Amino acid sequence: MSAQTETFGFQAEISQLLDLIINTFYSNKSIFLRELISNCSDALDKIRYQSLTDPSQLDTEKDLFIRITPDKENKLLRIRDTGIGMTKADLVNNLGTIAKSGTKAFMEALSAGGDVSMIGQFGVGFYSAYLVAERVQVVSKHNDDEQYVWESAAGGTFTITPDTEGEPLGRGTELRLYLKEDQLEYLEEKKIKEIVKKHSEFISYPIQLVVTKEVEKEVEDEEEVAEGEDKKIEEVEDEEEGKAKKTKKIKETTTENEELNKTKPIWTRNPSEITAEEYASFYKSLTNDWEEHLAVKHFSVEGQLEFKAILFIPKRAPFDLFETKKKRNNIKLYVRRVFIMDDCEDLIPEYLNFVKGIVDSEDLPLNISRETLQQNKILKVIRKNLVRKCMDLFSEIAEDKDNFAKFYEAFAKNIKLGIHEDAQNRSKLAEFLRFYSTKALDEQTSLKDYITRMPEIQKSIYYLTGESLASVRNSPFLEVLKKKGFEVLLLVDPIDEYAVTQLKEFEGRKLVCVSKEGLELEETEDEKKAREEEAKQFEDLCKTIKDALGDKVEKVVVSNRISDSPCVLVTGQFGWSSNMERIMKAQALRDSSMSSYMASKKTLELNPHNPIVKELKKKVAEDKADKSVRDLTFLLFETALLTSGFVLDDPTSFAKRIHRMISLGLDVDEEEESAAPAEAAPAVEEVESGSKMEEID
Ligand code: ADP
Ligand code: MG
Repeated sequence: MSAQTETFGFQAEISQLLDLIINTFYSNKSIFLRELISNCSDALDKIRYQSLTDPSQLDTEKDLFIRITPDKENKLLRIRDTGIGMTKADLVNNLGTIAKSGTKAFMEALSAGGDVSMIGQFGVGFYSAYLVAERVQVVSKHNDDEQYVWESAAGGTFTITPDTEGEPLGRGTELRLYLKEDQLEYLEEKKIKEIVKKHSEFISYPIQLVVTKEVEKEVEDEEEVAEGEDKKIEEVEDEEEGKAKKTKKIKETTTENEELNKTKPIWTRNPSEITAEEYASFYKSLTNDWEEHLAVKHFSVEGQLEFKAILFIPKRAPFDLFETKKKRNNIKLYVRRVFIMDDCEDLIPEYLNFVKGIVDSEDLPLNISRETLQQNKILKVIRKNLVRKCMDLFSEIAEDKDNFAKFYEAFAKNIKLGIHEDAQNRSKLAEFLRFYSTKALDEQTSLKDYITRMPEIQKSIYYLTGESLASVRNSPFLEVLKKKGFEVLLLVDPIDEYAVTQLKEFEGRKLVCVSKEGLELEETEDEKKAREEEAKQFEDLCKTIKDALGDKVEKVVVSNRISDSPCVLVTGQFGWSSNMERIMKAQALRDSSMSSYMASKKTLELNPHNPIVKELKKKVAEDKADKSVRDLTFLLFETALLTSGFVLDDPTSFAKRIHRMISLGLDVDEEEESAAPAEAAPAVEEVESGSKMEEID
């Protein structure tokens, strides 16, 4: 400790994480090396990228490499890189004082039975060093700062000290792991080679292992031999010389850098010669995923423009797939084998942010910057190709039902987002949609399969949106459609409605929402005539009800879509559905002016065959001014709100009305009822004033 040592406390969550790493038993500790090498590789990527626009950044160290040095004597494992390094502020921020969103998520995953090897996916891989080390030093030199040492033996704190005496790194970082007594196997060359081969073979910088070799050397006795600790001197009589001239054989240990990952970049090889294991291994080293990929596509494009690419689909969505500010780090861009950047937004559209892989272009200039990339025509062509290949990949996955189910569970949101955003591939993406329906309640159906089940007379694809399967499967909107044998898709994911509204049609068939106005159900001439006749007969009732409800509804008409329920509430064709209204209301930041415009007026549709409606019609015919008509109308309206998927603005007055009905049914005396606790009643009565329910008896 020097006088300039500063001590910092770990952020609370990180402290917890360290405790967990240190105190829980894991057998698979060797993953620490993969994580640390992956950090070296990231740091090298960063300096290489900077050097493309400013070559002088490399002046501090030209060679880009990773070097592992085992030091048995000191039970110390060193891992150094000549990457970008960390300034003092970086050391403080990156290694302990700021918790990443993954910190907590990783601990949760662990307590839910996850494996420690998942650590890299959560962005806290560095701390895996404590699986094997009791104390860790991070010596780092960034071009913009002096060399510093970060040090911690966990326990809640770490220190940072200017490194004035240590060996200068030039640029980069050296991790020094002081190994736990029972983890000394990680100093063995064989062990290190095995781990690197298994987990880090495809790192695109040389990984050197400093190996020691003993060589025997014969020297003449007279020769001055510098006696060092590592030289064993053995005196031998030189027989051959005859004369008693003495020579010495000395054993000298020398060190050598052995490169552990000499395979050439996997994407430059012929796909037919690459094994499934090699792809899996490359995928894992690329993504830090602990599981294999679900699907892969390795291809090259030639002609006017040349590039090679490998695209992977993971088995699961990452925990932070839709976290808004997260930088996307999914397709690595290389130019003629040189890594350029790993978060090039223009390489692939956002909805495909779960696809991982690499692209290696022959045509882009090496010194391309982020800014010039945006307008780059070559990049646009590459992007188009990548999207197309993704579609091919999805189609391939769809050939296997189980695989596709996994894929869809993880990435359905992305597909739907794609339908919303990518007009060019909309119809292709629509092939991958799967929904529950009135005929597919256990297993979701594709739109293609839906079409094969359509009765000949049916022209459109029908759908209903709602909060859950339970809330829509018995919806009154389905009554007539079910009777006619028309299947209705049940859309219960909030994003469904956005996607389907954009989609508009599939293979020439219109997508029609069955809870919106103007539903033109395919009907026979007779059905049509009968409906027109009914409309005439119920004209009077419709008008009376509209007068009673006033502004609450736009229109009251005879329905063609219900056969059992007395009535439903439908919304305007271009406004929000009841489901959308619910979603928008749930979003706190909605623009209220927009919502009053979009939450279009509702139309009340009556079922002319329903006994209640028939009875009501009779009552109106007898006496338009009958007071009970108005009250029953309100009850019908409010129950229709509920069954049509709306939220009641004033549930209390609705309940009050129902209670009145119950009282009537039970013959409860009015006096007796008001003897109940008096406080709640007046407030309700006030809200109630408009509807005059009290006049009912
Ligand atoms: P991740 O690599 O996912 O960001 P880590 O916990 O592995 O998470 O590393 C935390 C951060 O520490 C990195 O993002 C990086 O900024 C910094 N870091 C770790 N190792 C190095 C290194 N060898 N060189 C430079 N920076 C490093
Ligand atoms: Mg990392």
